[in-house]
Amino acid sequence: MNRILIAEDELRIASFLEKGLRGNGFVTTVVEDGIAAFDYAVSGEYDLLILDIGLPLRDGFTVLRRLREARTTIPVIILTARDSVADTVAGLEGGADDYIAKPFAFEELLARVRLRLRADRVPEVTVLRVGDLSLDLRARRVHVGDRAVDLSTREFALAEVFCRHPDQVLTREQLLSHVWGFDFDPGSNIVDVYVRYLRRKIGNERIQTVRGTGYRLRA
Ligand code: CA
Repeated sequence: MNRILIAEDELRIASFLEKGLRGNGFVTTVVEDGIAAFDYAVSGEYDLLILDIGLPLRDGFTVLRRLREARTTIPVIILTARDSVADTVAGLEGGADDYIAKPFAFEELLARVRLRLRADRVPEVTVLRVGDLSLDLRARRVHVGDRAVDLSTREFALAEVFCRHPDQVLTREQLLSHVWGFDFDPGSNIVDVYVRYLRRKIGNERIQTVRGTGYRLRA
């Protein structure tokens, strides 16, 4: 089981990450400042560090530099504000493996986490199949039976969430946080709109509406 250290002082984001990662089978620890981030990361007990740049006591760049000075090889994914991506890319020379700009969708972060951890893991399933629907995660290709279906990035992400949880009722909130991230207005009807797009492409009857709750992909 993979242990992930989350260094993030914004509690809303920390708990969003923690909930999502735990839901995907990871063990997580949250620290809220740069000194704790360093101490925990250097312990060798974690497989990956998600590191916010704007941390109290010591910023993410400093934490990262000190970790590399201490010859700690833990993979690091940096969280940065969208308007400071340029600075962050410059900061990657300090030895980080990747970065992701806030706000981000959970699926995007999860994909990066899996990628960083893949080196020492058994190969993962890359094609998801539910009935005659198949999603090739690596090639980003979708088929219904023999017919190739063209999905947009969001539609694909939505289809992936459904295929990972066949026959389960997924609430609008779950779909929203997995596909669109935490910065989306929970009152938005974007989930319904995209479910409609997806039904048009993969077949109406495949995704059931569960009244008052959400949606379910029929297995
Ligand atoms: Ca912060």
